[in-house]
Amino acid sequence: MYQAVTAGAAKRRNGPICAVYHSVWESRTAPDTRTNHGIAGGLGYRRVVKALVKSRREPGLWLEEIERPKIGINDVLIKVLRTGICGTDVHIYQWDEWAQATIPVPMAVGHEFVGQIVETGTNVVDFFPGDIVSGEGHVVCGRCRNCLAGRRHLCAHTLGVGVNRPGAFAEYIALPMTNIWRHHEGIPLDVAAIFDPFGNAVHTALSFPVLGEDVLVTGAGPIGIMAAAVARHAGARFTVITDVNPYRLDLARKLGVTLAVDVRETSLKDVQKRLGMTEGFDVGLEMSGNPSAFRDMLANMSHGARIAMLGIPSGDMAIDWHTVIFNMLTIKGVYGREMYETWYKMTVMLQSGLDIAPLITHRFPYTSFEKGFEAMISGCSGKVILTWD
Ligand code: NAD
Ligand code: ZN
Repeated sequence: MYQAVTAGAAKRRNGPICAVYHSVWESRTAPDTRTNHGIAGGLGYRRVVKALVKSRREPGLWLEEIERPKIGINDVLIKVLRTGICGTDVHIYQWDEWAQATIPVPMAVGHEFVGQIVETGTNVVDFFPGDIVSGEGHVVCGRCRNCLAGRRHLCAHTLGVGVNRPGAFAEYIALPMTNIWRHHEGIPLDVAAIFDPFGNAVHTALSFPVLGEDVLVTGAGPIGIMAAAVARHAGARFTVITDVNPYRLDLARKLGVTLAVDVRETSLKDVQKRLGMTEGFDVGLEMSGNPSAFRDMLANMSHGARIAMLGIPSGDMAIDWHTVIFNMLTIKGVYGREMYETWYKMTVMLQSGLDIAPLITHRFPYTSFEKGFEAMISGCSGKVILTWD
């Protein structure tokens, strides 16, 4: 299984994406010939492992050695193969107010990853060394009303991997077995590495039925672009995405949208006219966190339209509530992924032809993590992958 997955990844790496983003692509030998034995520690047990650690209360991350994570009876130990850099990691890297108030120091950060199980606790009977897995980044309490009812994504006591507990930017990570998703065969490793943000996109895009509907996505960051691709795959008639960043609008076009619109140049009213729309968008996916994008969205929705909001505004946000009331809009907040319905949906959409691989624009070995963060901060990137294999 491992070889099948990496062969797929290698094929994609050498495909057209490589040509398009040649200048930023650092190629590395794929670990196609590696065996589970080699990864599982055939070369000897190491008490310390490399990790990207927030070890000082100031901007930056530091490549350091940390103690190899220990597992309890319900946990698995994973050798990390690839990680994705998330906007959250950039907040931690830049050490903004949110990070200062939230992140324990010192701690290894990061939560988007794919890896291979190397060890399982004695209670773990259905995961095995060699399994290719990702981790659900929200560790829930298991005991609150929502958890007991099976609505784990609504747990009020969630702990974030790489935010409240040690993260995945490390050679090894330990997680409870209840947080493990075993990848189906044929999912490329790079794509598996970004199942966490892909899950944000899928959770949001599938919040409301989109078949035959006109969908507006505000914000063409990595998650907005994936959400647009999902809406299209799920049968939307028109999928319009907005941004103020031409690089990202181009990237959105590569993944396939009806229109990618720079709102500094073209208004959504004009877009509606151009598409022959008369009543407004039926479904809105807010993916920018930008107040003016959200206000613009509200003003361009049909009566009875539904809006799913993933984007996180940096502070309070005033809107015209009259529009919400008189146009009878539904607004739903979205956080994380549904455990594990979203993960299932991600997998089957990839199996039925959805391709998000072109969203991955940069790839660096973990030792060059600073270049990865630079690419993220520049805004001229889609997803940035760090390789640990
Ligand atoms: P991102 O910051 O990379 O993307 C946001 C995009 O919005 C950027 O490309 C930016 O140029 C664009 N934008 C700025 N002003 C705009 C405007 N006026 N109109 C249209 N677009 C505009 O973020 P991302 O990683 O793609 O994540 C999307 C959002 O979701 C972020 O706000 C992030 O914080 C949030 N998020 C929420 C959850 C959750 O569980 N709720 C999880 C992950 C991320
Ligand atoms: Zn709970």
